[in-house]
Parts: sequence; C-alpha cells; structure tokens
Amino acid sequence: MDGLMQNVPLTVDRIIDHAAAWHGAREIVSRDAEGRVSRSTYAGVHADAKRVSNALAAEGIKPGDRVATMAWNGARHLAAWYGAAGMGAVLHTLNPRLFLEQIAYIANHAGDRLLLADPATAELVEQLLPQVPSIEKVIFFCGAASLPQTSVAAIAFDDWIAGQPAEHAWGGFDENAACGLCYTSGTTGNPKGVLYSHRSNYIHALMTLQRDALALSARDTVLLVVPMYHANAWGVVYSAPAVGAKLVLPGQRMDGESIYNLIEEEGVTYSAAVPTVWQMLLQYMQENGKRFTTLERVTIGGSACPESIIRTFRDDYGVDVIQGWGMTETSPLGTVSVPNASVAAKSDAEQMAYKLKQGRLLCGLEMKLVDDAGNRLPHDGRTPGRLMVKGPTIAAAYFGGEGGDVLDAEGFFDTGDVSTIDGEGYMQITDRAKDVVKSGGEWISSIEIENIAMGHDAVANAAVVGVAHPKWDERPILLCQLKPGASASADDLRAYLDGRIAKWWMPDDVLFVGEIPLGPTGKIDKKAIRAGLEGYKLPFEVTR
Ligand code: ADP
Repeated sequence: MDGLMQNVPLTVDRIIDHAAAWHGAREIVSRDAEGRVSRSTYAGVHADAKRVSNALAAEGIKPGDRVATMAWNGARHLAAWYGAAGMGAVLHTLNPRLFLEQIAYIANHAGDRLLLADPATAELVEQLLPQVPSIEKVIFFCGAASLPQTSVAAIAFDDWIAGQPAEHAWGGFDENAACGLCYTSGTTGNPKGVLYSHRSNYIHALMTLQRDALALSARDTVLLVVPMYHANAWGVVYSAPAVGAKLVLPGQRMDGESIYNLIEEEGVTYSAAVPTVWQMLLQYMQENGKRFTTLERVTIGGSACPESIIRTFRDDYGVDVIQGWGMTETSPLGTVSVPNASVAAKSDAEQMAYKLKQGRLLCGLEMKLVDDAGNRLPHDGRTPGRLMVKGPTIAAAYFGGEGGDVLDAEGFFDTGDVSTIDGEGYMQITDRAKDVVKSGGEWISSIEIENIAMGHDAVANAAVVGVAHPKWDERPILLCQLKPGASASADDLRAYLDGRIAKWWMPDDVLFVGEIPLGPTGKIDKKAIRAGLEGYKLPFEVTR
C-alpha cells in the first residue's frame, strides 16, 4: 500500500526558492580577487539564478547538458550553480588549481558546453580552450568593466544575464536527475567524475543540518572557505540557503590576514575549511596578537586534523573544532566527530582522543570494515580495515562508467581509506589504502605519525611515506617543514616521537624540506613526495 503523502520531488531549486521566499533579505557577501566586497541577498541571487536559466536556454542548453564553472566562491558563481541546476542542466565545477592537462582531460571527459570562469583564471582559460573543442562559449564572472584582456572571445556574466527575465519555470523533472558533476583529483589514476543527483544533494543538505553534524542555523554567519569546486563545498552551498544563514564567500584569497579580516568584518560565527587554511589563520593571529569576537565553531575536514589546531582554537580562542570526514564520492560528509552522551560525560583530556577521530556516521548511511578478501572486521577500535560505505548520498558509479563496477556484492562503496571503528561508533582513519606503510606485514599509519610530529613546536608541516626496504618491505621516513625561523634536528624529532609511537613505527630517517608539496585541495601530495624521493636510499640498515 502506498502512503498518502505528497510526492514532491527533492530538487535543489526548491532550496533557493525557500531561501528567497523566507530569508530573502539575508545577505550574501562576496569578495573578489582584488579584495573588493560586494553584497547581495538570497532574493537577489535567486533572481540572478533565474536569469542564468534563461541565458542558458538562449544558448541552447538542454537538461542533462554540462555547464562548467571554474571559479572561487562568490555570489555570481552561486547564481550560476542554481540557475544551471534549476533548469535541469548539470553544473560541473572545474578546479582551477589543477594542472592544465588535468583540467583539459576533465572538461573533455565531461563534454562541457559552456565555461563560466573567474576573471582571475583568464590566462588558464586561454590555454584551455584550444584543447577542449566542446566548449562553445566563455563567460567571465564579472561586470563589463572588469572583463579580462584575453584573446578569448568572452562575455561578462553581468551582460550575459542583463536582458533576461527573472522568471523561469524550474524543476518538473525527476528527483534522480543529474544535478552536479565533480571530479576526484585523481591521486590514483585518471580523475573520475562523481555525478550528483538532485535527490542526493537535497538529502545530503538535510543530513548535514543535524545538530550533531554541521548544525547551521538562521542565526549563523557562515564563511565558506572550502572552494565551491571541491565536493559541493561540503554541502554548504545547499545547507546555508536551506536555513537562511548569512553567507560570506571569500573569493581567492585564503591567507591568514584576509580570512581573519572577513571573519571580524562580517561577524562570522561558523566556518569550514581544510587544516592548512586554519594553520595559516592561527599563525597570523599568533604573530599579530589578534582575537576573535564572533567565531564560535569551525569544521575541519579533507585531511586529518592535527591536535595542535584543535587545542589552539579551543584553549587560546574559545572556538570549538569539529572534525568531519568525507570524500567527493560521499557528497561529501560521511562522519562527524561530535560527542555522544557517554563521550560527553568524559573529562576534557579523554574527549580529545575522540575529537581526533573522524567521528560518527550520519543517519541514512551504513559503514563497515573489511579485509582484503572482503570479510567483515570487528568494530573494536583496534583492527584496521578498508572502510566501505553505503547510502543515498554515496556514488553508485563514476561518470562515463570509468572505473567499472565500484560497489561490492552488498552495494557498499570502497572509500580507499583504511580505518578503525570503536565500540562508541567512532570511525578513525589510519591511512589511505595506498599510503599505508607496510612494514614486516604490519600496517603503520602515516597519518598518526604526521599528527604527532606536527605537535612539535618547530614543525609547520610533516609527511610520512614508506620507502622500500630489503628486509621489512617498507619503512617509514618523516619529512618535516619547519616554521619560519625555527630549528630542530633529526634527533630532536626522534626524541619527540619516542614514547609517543610504537618503537617499530619510528621513522628510519628524518628529512627537512623547504616545503611539503600540497595538492590542489591543500592535502599533502604524497605522489609528488614519492616522485621526489626516487633513488632515495635509507641511511642505515634497521633492526626491529
Ligand atoms: P581525492 O583526495 O582522492 O581527490 P577527496 O578530495 O574527495 O578525494 O578526498 C577524500 C579523502 O580525503 C578521503 O578518502 C580521506 O582519505 C581524506 N579525508 C577527508 N576528510 C578527512 C579527515 N577528517 N581525516 C583524514 N582524512 C580525511
């Protein structure tokens, strides 16, 4: 028997409709590459999104066609996002920080028809266009006066939508229709496209709005540091309008001073970013004796959050750090590390161990740990296994069938992460499956050693990779980037790690590097490190 409730399709245009109708005057603040701040509202972005839909229709864009953006966070980007999705097109976010060849590969694979780009990417667009014949037109996110000087025949976004009516009939399609496309950065093999549906994005927004997840509310002012080209910007592109939070979009500038100024000038209460951004912000604040007056909490994800960041935010600035785990294929949020009742009853010191874990599963999802043969492993907080997830916000396949069948017999997706799950249900990532250091048949967690090394006063960033070893197969070595003006020796680092990690986890070598290479989303680029270490030989023979 069917239920007798209204079968309203969960399409994301309803989210911005809701924001415009009930939070219409709530501000959206954007800052461009030159640092200029402009102000719009949900009603304003909604009207512009309708104009975008009409402009897209005028270009002959049909439902299912891919419309690419290559831009940082701003109100025009948001209008393009909803304008494309609302009329049934697929909004494809390109990451301008990737190499030209990667962007060209991705845009060709996606078959993008239009490119809406940040003016700051003009040079990149010039190089890209000859390589992507499917792109018919380029629109720069600016007014006519700011149109960049390029050889590309391009139009300014403001002119492109200017004559268009602010009315367009949105929706009318199935909630399972494609809505957005985002490629994983391809740390393994070619980039692969994750094709979000309206339904998956809508459900993800609701899931992340729980008090035990991102907990956004109408009273929040949200600084969205996570770039919109990175996995739906952790869903905030949907969840902030859904609750009518004020939205602050920082553009390209991610340095500590710029982020700090925006937080203070706009009264930001909540923000989300990868650890490297927070590290730059904290360093700026410490060097300049700054304080926060409005910031209450931040979500950190994308890579493991070092304890030092959580402590500094909490002890020095009274800001709560919440760690989240997810990936492009999981929309992205999967787990969030907020205390359950029994963890909340523990001492501050005991709670820290849980804050460092990646957290508890959001309702709607399932997770399990398996060994290499696919057998389930216990949730005892000790046994690491491959983390598998399932649910309506998890990818079922990649765009174009890339990578083949990606689900196991029970319909679970292999995250490529290795983790433990404890008796309280907290998941803890111990490594990427491909980054685990396999020494003498045992697994050494590179992430755990990195986190501990980063607790050393002199260390700005640390990376652990496995290098081939004749006896143990692989041994870990530690690369350290020191803070400006700081000094430390390899022996200092070894002494610091001694007692904090198992003896056989002790890195066989400590190398000091000017800079730890970071990938386009701010994560440590282990592929680049391994390439840089080609020909490297361990300094001595080890015994356990
Ligand atoms: P990729 O880096 O493969 O392009 P994503 O950008 O989607 O893909 O990153 C997802 C990966 O980032 C996860 O599989 C996990 O390894 C890592 N990750 C995300 N959040 C965390 C976290 N809080 N702690 C540790 N690792 C994380």
